[in-house]
Amino acid sequence: MSPPPPAAIEVEAVTDTTAVTIPDPFTAPFKPNELYGRRRKTEKSQWGVAAPVNTANFQLQKHDHKPVAKRWDHRMTHEALSREGASLKKAAKYLGLPGMISLGGGLPSSEYFPFESLSVKVPTPPHFSEPATAASGTTLHAGKHDLANGRALYDISTAFNYAQGTGSAQLLRFVTEHTELVHNPPYADWRTTLSIGSTSALDMALRMFTHRGDILLSEEYTFATAVETAAPLGVRVVGVPMDAEGLVPAALDALLSAWDDARGPKPFLLYTVPTGQNPTGATQGAARRRALYAVARKHDLFVLEDEPYYFLQMQPYAGPGTPPPPPPASHAEFLASLVPSLLSMDVDGRVMRLDSFSKVVSPGARIGWVTASEQVVRAYARHADVSTQSPCGMSQLVLWKLLDEHWGHAGYLDWLIHIRLEYTRRRDVILQACERFLPKEVVSWEPPMAGMFHWLRIAFTKHPDYPAKSIQELEEEIWLAGIEAGALVMRGSWFYADKTAPHDTMFFRATYAAVPSEKLQEAIRRFGDAVRVSFGLKKMENGVENGDAGKNGSEVK
Ligand code: PLP
Repeated sequence: MSPPPPAAIEVEAVTDTTAVTIPDPFTAPFKPNELYGRRRKTEKSQWGVAAPVNTANFQLQKHDHKPVAKRWDHRMTHEALSREGASLKKAAKYLGLPGMISLGGGLPSSEYFPFESLSVKVPTPPHFSEPATAASGTTLHAGKHDLANGRALYDISTAFNYAQGTGSAQLLRFVTEHTELVHNPPYADWRTTLSIGSTSALDMALRMFTHRGDILLSEEYTFATAVETAAPLGVRVVGVPMDAEGLVPAALDALLSAWDDARGPKPFLLYTVPTGQNPTGATQGAARRRALYAVARKHDLFVLEDEPYYFLQMQPYAGPGTPPPPPPASHAEFLASLVPSLLSMDVDGRVMRLDSFSKVVSPGARIGWVTASEQVVRAYARHADVSTQSPCGMSQLVLWKLLDEHWGHAGYLDWLIHIRLEYTRRRDVILQACERFLPKEVVSWEPPMAGMFHWLRIAFTKHPDYPAKSIQELEEEIWLAGIEAGALVMRGSWFYADKTAPHDTMFFRATYAAVPSEKLQEAIRRFGDAVRVSFGLKKMENGVENGDAGKNGSEVK
């Protein structure tokens, strides 16, 4: 039965948005932002409790002239295709109708939310450091009824209530604009939806696209959680060879061109982390990404582009003792310095991009977003409607206050530039420590261009106990020696895409994100000592090698 015409009902809503004069956040003088004035006029009802969102309404440019995304019905699971969305959530679209009294959804009245206001102190651009924030940060304040009172577009009574699986219109508007600004997807019907972070987005993507027995392709060393998410779903991960720039497109092409069905059904899903890859730190350059996209088109792959480290692209490494080049002088220069994403090349709508605030704002926020074709985003949001319901409203409100109301796009880009420079400094510290403390005859590395990981290759065949001891035994021995010396790194074998495949390389992953410079240097020194002892190399004394041989007292092979 169709609902009665709303105008016939005399009503008063719990969260009444009818009388709100919405301040235009893009013209408000206290929020300087070069995008202000370009935002489209939006229905007031868009901001209300559980309001449904069409993110196309938030795009600043027209995209209609671009090609329409391919349909993925032939690849999507029955589960994904048969989701119709939550009927209770669909009814929420009537909440915004003027005068509607809702006796419909089981939304509690905000009267019973025991929160009157919320304050957070955050950096005032461009003074982003912890001490500067403590001294001169801005305190943002969210009241319970700011929306109804015309003080803000988002408030406690709205954010702390139930919401759509897509997340709130308020935060979605910001991420949609940001995505357009940074990637400008080259097809017409791209959309965004919030996620609970990329871990959850990947889990949902696998349920949308894979059946038991399917094969997921990824870099040969990959984010361990991706493998651990796929395995219980009956999805095996097959690794594609990598080099210093990450996944090798020619190797992917060769693997697929010569695919032997005895290995299982020919894979159609690729999971890749193109920037600052976890664990290798490798970053695919622009040409590499174009070649990868071409292979994806050739074999009709659907691509999961997991990019939590995209904005941890650093200043180029200038070599030991040489300062990095000057930082980007403008937002335009900063954006131009970023390696173009696969999404920015995606004329077919075959890329599902996973973004996350985890590595650039806060992992505990548990907020990210997905960009893909309308079909894919709709399926994702329908799944969210009946599983997560929506990302955490408290997190969304805090992020929206910071990103949209306080920083604006300009301030957020300033923050990202700040983070870029911070990571550049840390990366340079670890590289200098490696130069100084690691025995280069057995440890080698590439300077990472992005992310938070440094990938140390060990020439294990030079170990005095090789081949009497296997690569696994030696990896464990070196790892334990590091722990004994007081330096914890991760074992490369934990990141094998396919643990059953033969491996003849040994790596350890070290992060420069977690500890301050002095500790970083000390940890590398300790790890260097542990490697020396294990390989029977001369130990270091005050930063220089002394004459004593280590444990085995033998020369490196
Ligand atoms: N994807 C990759 C490649 C990661 O390295 C990580 C974190 O380590 C994540 C996703 C997790 O992201 P989120 O916190 O958004 O779930």
